[in-house]
Amino acid sequence: MDRVVIVGGSLAGVNAAEALREHGFEGDLTLISAEESLPYDRPPLSKQMLLTDMAPEQLLLKESDWYEKNGLDVVLGNPARGLDPIAQRVALSDGTEREYDGLVLATGSAVRELSVVHGEPRLHVLHSMDDAIRLRAEFAPGKHLVLVGGGFIGLEVAAAARWQGLDVTVIARGPAPLSRVFVGDIGRWYQGLHERNGVNVRCGSALEAIEWGINGAVVTLTNGSVINADIVVAGVGSTPAVEWLANSGVEITNGLACTPDLMTSVPNVVAAGDIVSWRNPIFDEEMRVEHWTNAIDQGRHAAATLLGNRDPFASVPYFWTDQFDTKMRFVGRTTGADHTNIETLSDDKLVATFGRDGVVIGAVCIGAPRQLAKYKVAIQNRTPWDEAVEASLIAAR
Ligand code: NAP
Repeated sequence: MDRVVIVGGSLAGVNAAEALREHGFEGDLTLISAEESLPYDRPPLSKQMLLTDMAPEQLLLKESDWYEKNGLDVVLGNPARGLDPIAQRVALSDGTEREYDGLVLATGSAVRELSVVHGEPRLHVLHSMDDAIRLRAEFAPGKHLVLVGGGFIGLEVAAAARWQGLDVTVIARGPAPLSRVFVGDIGRWYQGLHERNGVNVRCGSALEAIEWGINGAVVTLTNGSVINADIVVAGVGSTPAVEWLANSGVEITNGLACTPDLMTSVPNVVAAGDIVSWRNPIFDEEMRVEHWTNAIDQGRHAAATLLGNRDPFASVPYFWTDQFDTKMRFVGRTTGADHTNIETLSDDKLVATFGRDGVVIGAVCIGAPRQLAKYKVAIQNRTPWDEAVEASLIAAR
């Protein structure tokens, strides 16, 4: 293999490049990115970038000389727009093409649009560095910020804005925030945390309309209530950024349908990060994971696969969220959980465990950092739920 092209200036893409060189690949290596900036880290966008005057350069995954030292041809501001897997060519937006012997797809996620306010420039989203800089510039104490969506963006931005002295309202259409990922009790715990810190959390109704005027926006909810806002941010989820592959012959399901070792449905093309749908042997479950650590691990694994490794990608998903002065760490899964145990240890401490088909599959630790490692081992080993209760890993009820 002489030429490898990586599409996606993402965490997964950069880690794939690094792993290819570490595994001894000495051929031509090209990294194609839609963004003008060198690849950067995204978790701080909804946290430190909004709380401090952090400079964009501080987010870079690698300094520019790293790309030179590793012999990477970096193409910026030039999104891929098509793939011909038979000719083994990627078409770029500027009309040029890149030929490959091996291809890594790592295009990440795209922001889900709010259908009722399609294309409105005054509506903020938070996906890129530019989005965070634009939003931060609007922050000022006393302004009223309305967040549409009670997910991770909604809650993290709410916490940062509140700490900057803004008035904040979160609109969650489910019965509690975070209801996409967790059962109500954890979402309600987060609702309490936000309310204690002065955030107005409104659950159970969705956005009906937004009208902008010279003095901000008027937000109308489906239950008829009306909220005046100076700033409106939508955090209503993301979708795998794979539209550009629609006519390529690569199989698309929920993201890209991949084999357990992260091969796509076409030869010599692997994938990594948010776009990958694969069967994770630890859970015997088809999944797609949008977490930071998954992008790193899959980027590295996909690189090894391209070079001939056939091991399945077996992993226990992990993520964290920082809101006010609490940190939640999560390992595993909650999908299809038929057992849930929640121990609210105090206002700032909660441990929750999830089981499915008699084994432990997931755990949430808020303010309990040392507990996490043993849950990760239990999940990895498919520890029976009853055994975990006997070992006091899970509190008996
Ligand atoms: P998210 O976590 O999927 O949350 C989106 C929320 O928006 C859901 O609660 C959803 O509610 C709600 N929603 C969807 N459509 C809506 C509509 N039309 N009106 C009102 N609410 C609507 O997504 P996100 O917060 O936008 O974050 C984007 C991505 O970044 C996600 O992959 C997220 O995991 C990631 N992220 C992760 C972290 C972290 O790990 N710390 C931090 C920030 C972002 P329903 O459940 O009712 O659909």
